[in-house]
Amino acid sequence: MPTVTVPARKRIAIVAHDNKKPELLTWVAARRDLLAAHELFGTGTTGKLVAEKLGLPVHRFLSGPLGGDQQIGAFIAELKLDALIFFWDPLEAQPHDPDVKALIRVAVVWNIPVACNEATADHLLTSPLMAKEYARTVPV
Ligand code: PGA
Repeated sequence: MPTVTVPARKRIAIVAHDNKKPELLTWVAARRDLLAAHELFGTGTTGKLVAEKLGLPVHRFLSGPLGGDQQIGAFIAELKLDALIFFWDPLEAQPHDPDVKALIRVAVVWNIPVACNEATADHLLTSPLMAKEYARTVPV
């Protein structure tokens, strides 16, 4: 299988469903120094809130329900993102549930690290691999 070299400065996509936004914002605020070492992306509302909270630039896609999840999925398939922090809500149905499923699927297909809750996000962000280049296996 081929590999791509992921840079030390990772391109991280951040998404949180509405009920999970407070938890995500608390989490990013406590991890500002670690996150500042990377390039941040987000769906519309999440990206705006994270940028305001951290005072860091965040590339913003459309809001999730309007296609933002699909835009992130496309970036993953184009090798333009290196990690996904996705605080999806397991307790409430989402109007864009097919997009949520598709995003998680494409992240697995392209073998990027995905964190869907706070504890996993902590482990991901503090991994030594986040601070150096990484040879990531990709399907093509
Ligand atoms: P939002 O989208 O950041 O624009 O709220 C997140 C989502 O629901 O996927």
